[in-house]
Amino acid sequence: MIYLNGKFMPIEQACIPVLDRGFIFGDGVYEVIPVYSRQPFRLPEHLTRLQHSLDGIRLKNPFGNDEWQQLLAQVIAQNNGEDQYLYLHITRGVAKRDHAFPANVPATVFIMSNPLLPPPAELLVSGAAAVTANDNRWMRCDVKAISLLPNVLLRQLAVDAHALETILIRDGFLTEGAASNIFIVKNNVLLAPPKSNLMLPGITYDVVLELAAANHITHEIRQVTETEVRTADEILLTSSTKEVMPVTLLDQQPVGNGKPGKVFMHLHTLYQEYKATHMRGFAPGASS
Ligand code: PMP
Repeated sequence: MIYLNGKFMPIEQACIPVLDRGFIFGDGVYEVIPVYSRQPFRLPEHLTRLQHSLDGIRLKNPFGNDEWQQLLAQVIAQNNGEDQYLYLHITRGVAKRDHAFPANVPATVFIMSNPLLPPPAELLVSGAAAVTANDNRWMRCDVKAISLLPNVLLRQLAVDAHALETILIRDGFLTEGAASNIFIVKNNVLLAPPKSNLMLPGITYDVVLELAAANHITHEIRQVTETEVRTADEILLTSSTKEVMPVTLLDQQPVGNGKPGKVFMHLHTLYQEYKATHMRGFAPGASS
């Protein structure tokens, strides 16, 4: 069951007019929110990022946070599965084709839920392959825009090379993945590129840095050079649906010793514990 403009319906029945600006211009933003044990994970952070994206495209938020929370709870309730991921999509509505913003047009709001599967165990044991590419996206990568053509083309480079992700380099520095954030480890120091207009401020990125800080994992938030990526001891990929994953092959060369490293294993364990704490927080009778 999906939500579209005030109604719940099976996805097969959902239709939007061809003049929707999402269809015509890619004029909209989205969010992806993981749900564990039927509870959205880090919901306030996702809604804050949604507001940032809406502000970035000058589109008024159609709902307040309480309304979003209630709506998302209804979508979760109407779908099977303890673990789901919510996809929320807002466009500038339906209007005669014209680049200029239309006046007084309601936004299109679409929410769907899909089953959330844990990352395959073999990827956690042996690690994933990645390729690198020149980051040729626009200069507002901090906005989670639905116009994802550059990301689609960049991700396909990985698919073509039988790899999981494309790691992006702009002007000699690491930005992020085509649909993930990227960390490296060098000499036992976890290095994270600083948030800027050149990357999406990942919710999982924040969780990883919080876990590193709380557990005395030495880390630095600073620009990471392409050479540092290529000579890293470890490379880690993060996203809401992939959690924390090791990259052990980069452009067909082994990363470090070619196996998932110590920092990955530590952070992966901490992340699973953190998720379990989140789920316990919502267990019947839990005090917080
Ligand atoms: N960067 C990009 C370009 C992404 O598409 C994603 C996935 N939404 C991320 C980073 C990771 O963000 P998050 O941890 O919030 O899923």
